[in-house]
Amino acid sequence: MSSLNEVGERDAWRCWLCDEPVDPDASVNADRGPSVDSGASPKGKKAAAGVERLAHRACNTRKGAVKPVVAWSPELFVVEPAPIVATVERLTRKGGREVVARCPSQADAERAAIWLLDRLSRLAPQLALTTQVEAGGGQFLLVLRTA
Ligand SMILES: [Zn+2]
Repeated sequence: MSSLNEVGERDAWRCWLCDEPVDPDASVNADRGPSVDSGASPKGKKAAAGVERLAHRACNTRKGAVKPVVAWSPELFVVEPAPIVATVERLTRKGGREVVARCPSQADAERAAIWLLDRLSRLAPQLALTTQVEAGGGQFLLVLRTA
């Protein structure tokens, strides 16, 4: 088990769930204070990488039955976006490629691709990922694949 400071520094004092800064000096009892989350671990299993992550106390999934949710940016134009945490878990386990969203235009898909890669570079730094935009059925598919 790592100390809060070790986990905090490795994650650059940013909450792995909401992607916002965590104040290392805030009280650990405050909702926005720092805490160590056990990471995405379905059915009580350790995550593939077995890593502990920094989270705001209120965002920490350990205390609730709620599965971790990582939201897509509301500024993106994406249709039926895939759940980010579950997608990352599958790609960590099996690799391969998944369509993660559909977009009305190529520009929307490219914006979403840039946002997603940036977000995942912090959420799943152990995973080497690329994105691809594919035209299909009058829409643009955003594909995420392991390198
Ligand atoms: Zn948070």
